[in-house]
Amino acid sequence: MRISRRARDIRPSGIRRFFDLLTKVTDIISFGVGEPDFTTPWCIREAGIKALEKGYTMYTSNKGLPELREEISRYLEDKYGISYDPENEILITVGVSEAFDLAIRALVDEEDEVLIQDPSYVSYRPCTILSGGKPVPIPLKEERDFSITAEDIEKKISSKTKVLILNYPHNPTGSTIYKEELLKIAELAERRDLIVISDEIYSRLIYEGEHISFPSLPGMKGRTVLLGGFSKAYAMTGWRIGFAAGPEEIIQAMLRIHQYTMLCAPIISQISALEALRNGEEEVSEMVEEYDRRRKLITQGLREIGLKCVEPKGAFYIFPSIKETGLSSEEFSERLLLEEKVLVVPGNAFGENGEGYVRICYALPREKIEEALPRIERFLKKL
Ligand code: PLP
Repeated sequence: MRISRRARDIRPSGIRRFFDLLTKVTDIISFGVGEPDFTTPWCIREAGIKALEKGYTMYTSNKGLPELREEISRYLEDKYGISYDPENEILITVGVSEAFDLAIRALVDEEDEVLIQDPSYVSYRPCTILSGGKPVPIPLKEERDFSITAEDIEKKISSKTKVLILNYPHNPTGSTIYKEELLKIAELAERRDLIVISDEIYSRLIYEGEHISFPSLPGMKGRTVLLGGFSKAYAMTGWRIGFAAGPEEIIQAMLRIHQYTMLCAPIISQISALEALRNGEEEVSEMVEEYDRRRKLITQGLREIGLKCVEPKGAFYIFPSIKETGLSSEEFSERLLLEEKVLVVPGNAFGENGEGYVRICYALPREKIEEALPRIERFLKKL
C-alpha cells in the first residue's frame, strides 16, 4: 500500500462532500461554507495592492514581520490585558488552520489524549490523529446551550490527557463560554495540569456579553496557546493569515515545525493584516452589527417555522435541532438541498454528537435568509 496508515484513516470532510453536491444543483441558497459574505474592507485590500506595487514579494522572517507581531502584542494587551513578547511568544501563521496544526504537533506525543468539544470544528480530530494523539470527545449538550462546562471536561480526563482544545465562540453551534465557567475550567486546567489550545478565531463576533480570552484568566497564560485570526472578523479567509501566542517554549517548538514546513506566511497577507489591525476597526464593528441583525432574523425565523434552536451568542452559526423530523442530519440536508435548493451542513460532520442537528452559517445577506426560510418551511411541511 502506497498511502500511509495515518493518511488512509483520515475521512474526507463531511462538509466537502456536501459542497460537491452544490455543483449539481443551480440557484441554491447556501448556508454552507463558514465564511463572511463581505469582501475584505477596502483599506486592507489597498494595503495589499500597494505592497505589491512596492515590490514586497519576498519571504519574511520565519516568525512573521516584526511590525505585525508587535501590533498583535499591542492588540492583545489593549483588548484583554495579556502581554506577549513579540519576539518569542508570537508566531504568524498561514491561518488559524496552520497555527492549530503546529500547536498540536508541538505538544502531542503518540497516545497522548486530546480533549475536543463534540461537535467541533472539523479539523481538530484529523489533525490530532495525524499528530499521533488520541482525540477524546466531550459531548456538548443542547440543554446547556452547547456551552462546555468544567464538569463535562473533568469526566473525560484520564492519566493520559495532555491537551484541552477550547473553541469559543463556537463553530458549529454559536455558543460561547462565560466568565463563571471559564474560571472553573481554568481551575481544572491548573489542578489536572492540562495544556489548553484556545481557538478564539471568532472572538470579535460576539453579540451577548463580552469575550474573555482564556490566557487572561489567572494562571492560564503559562499553559495556553491562544490562536487568533483574521479570516472571520476582517473577512480575510482567502488571505490565509493567523497567529499563535503562548509560552516561549511552545511557540519556539511550533516555530521549528513551521520553518521547515511553511517557512513563513505570505508577505502580502502579513502587510494587509497589519493594516487590518491598525485601521480595520470601524468596518469590523459594522460587519458585527450586520451579523447580529441576521442572527436575530434567522433565530426568530427558524423558531417560527417550527425548528427548535438555541440562540447563538457568537460566530455566525446556528445549530437547530431536526430531531423532530425523524430524519438523520444527512438525510435532512441532502433532501433540503435537492428539494428546496437550500444548503445546510449535517451536524454529524462536526462529530457524533452533532447528529440530530444541522449547521446554518448565516453570513448571508438578509434577503437571502428571508428567501430561504419559506423554502425550509415548505420542506418541513412536506415531511
Ligand atoms: N478555527 C475555527 C473554529 C474555524 O471555524 C475555522 C474556519 O472555519 C478555522 C479555525 C480556520 O481558520 P483560518 O481561515 O484562519 O485557517
